[in-house]
Amino acid sequence: MVALSDYPQIAAGKVRQLHAVDDEHLLMVASDRISAYDHVLDTPIPDKGRVLTAMSVFWFDLLADVVPNHVVSADDPRIPAEVRGRALLVRRLEMLPVECVARGYLTGSGLVDYRATGAVCGVELPGGLTEASKLPEPIFTPATKAELGAHDENVSFDAVAAQVGRERAEQLRELTLRVYARAAEHAESRGVILADTKFEFGLGADGLVLGDEVLTPDSSRFWPADGHEPGRVQPSFDKQYVRNWLTSPESGWDRASDAPPPPLPEDVVAATRARYVEAYEWISGRDLADWPSPA
Ligand code: ATP
Ligand code: MG
Repeated sequence: MVALSDYPQIAAGKVRQLHAVDDEHLLMVASDRISAYDHVLDTPIPDKGRVLTAMSVFWFDLLADVVPNHVVSADDPRIPAEVRGRALLVRRLEMLPVECVARGYLTGSGLVDYRATGAVCGVELPGGLTEASKLPEPIFTPATKAELGAHDENVSFDAVAAQVGRERAEQLRELTLRVYARAAEHAESRGVILADTKFEFGLGADGLVLGDEVLTPDSSRFWPADGHEPGRVQPSFDKQYVRNWLTSPESGWDRASDAPPPPLPEDVVAATRARYVEAYEWISGRDLADWPSPA
């Protein structure tokens, strides 16, 4: 029996950890931690790591005819029982230092840039767009990876070209937009808008390989298509309960202060967990009960 502690940890992000299995393989472990308003909360959401892992695998499968991916297995003797269901055995890749973001709608840092310059990452956009506007066509808006705790920074296509070479940058843009289009098409068939998403690619023996997690609520914005209305912030389908409670008088938390958010009440945890499970099952058509669980 293997234990997670048998595998040296080589990186830890806000909610995931990366462990080395051997020279060719890594274990990508998703925790149940959740972040909101730039804080990682003290209260975990049960099954969140499992749901996000299952969701990534669903999308990797769906996209397999568009792009190769790093998944080796979600259910393998090399995956320790304690993290079964929320860990993926993956091929170790040489990751490219670019957060490959595709946007089909305008929000977040894209909207901030647009309001300041009329463009996002140097891509000129027509006037008159607002929060949650659909873009004339999806755009590639790369960002550089920030150190832990800092925000990623939007950069121009030329900046990416300077970093990885023009030909590689063009491949990344083309592939990012192709993968986004396929994913957005599936989401739409389920009544969901994929507003934007972030991919990370690495180099494998066969060229560009899709790595990291994909098309989870942590790397993407999903909106219900029903009720989409430009001009206002769309509800976040996964974190809305958490955000609403944190900003309600009941939580007693002052978002503007430096204080960490308080622990979440049980009903907020339960409602949030249910949203994640529902989102997975709705988008994938799969049943979470069929996905591996920790032993
Ligand atoms: P955060 O996303 O929380 O801001 P982060 O990106 O540093 O921080 P994670 O996303 O948890 O942390 O870490 C995943 C790391 O694993 C990323 O650096 C990603 O590039 C890397 N990674 C993903 N897939 C592979 C792979 N197949 N081979 C090598 N590295 C990978
Ligand atoms: Mg990351």
